[in-house]
Amino acid sequence: MSALERVFGSAAPEPGAVAKATTDPSGASPADGPLAIRKGVRLLVLYAVVVLGFSLVALVVELALGDPFSTGRSPGVSRSFEDAAWHLVTGLAIAVPTRRRALIVLTPVFALAIDVDHVFGSLLPTVVPREAHDLFFLVAIALVFLPLAGRAWTQLAIGATLVHLGADGGSFPLLAPVTTQSWAFPFAVAVVTIVAAALLVGLSGRTPRELVRPAYLVPTAAAVVVILLAGFAVGWIQVFSGA
Ligand SMILES: [Zn+2]
Repeated sequence: MSALERVFGSAAPEPGAVAKATTDPSGASPADGPLAIRKGVRLLVLYAVVVLGFSLVALVVELALGDPFSTGRSPGVSRSFEDAAWHLVTGLAIAVPTRRRALIVLTPVFALAIDVDHVFGSLLPTVVPREAHDLFFLVAIALVFLPLAGRAWTQLAIGATLVHLGADGGSFPLLAPVTTQSWAFPFAVAVVTIVAAALLVGLSGRTPRELVRPAYLVPTAAAVVVILLAGFAVGWIQVFSGA
């Protein structure tokens, strides 16, 4: 067993545990239970390390490509608290219908954790703000999480990242460091992103058969609609208030 496997556990299911892989809290799945939450907290730290590592690598590549430092504007403290609450609530909204305690606890904090990349621009210099709000970051998560944590935790990490991006607002450097251009999500893309996030988080703790039951589908659809309507309303309020 490698040192990493000792910290994060083996991504491979125990022999004979295949049939209960999606419900075994001590195995490769964030299905439920205090053990899953404890492992999730360790993986949350890993997630934050991947955010910072990715941001640093992207920054170095951008500088090597000749892109200049910019003075990233950091949001005010009250705006930061509003953003944090919004990401916790939206992560919670897509996790509650799974009725898995570990997912209900961990999805919101994973959904918030990508904003660790605000360190670049707030405390450290950067080329583009929000370096990890990036499609290549999803690839980085998969590359790190699949071997270390297994499929279910990878789905949770990517799902939480997607609900963050879908609910975040503003524009993102989606293809950094290849280009420093930023793109805003059109409404249709936000819909697809949040639906995909709900699906990935659901699949990290439930079987596909469990996800097509009304007990999961109805509250999930309601959560997606409420997130989109609330995001839409906040966008309009910001337009009218000149924020
Ligand atoms: Zn963000």
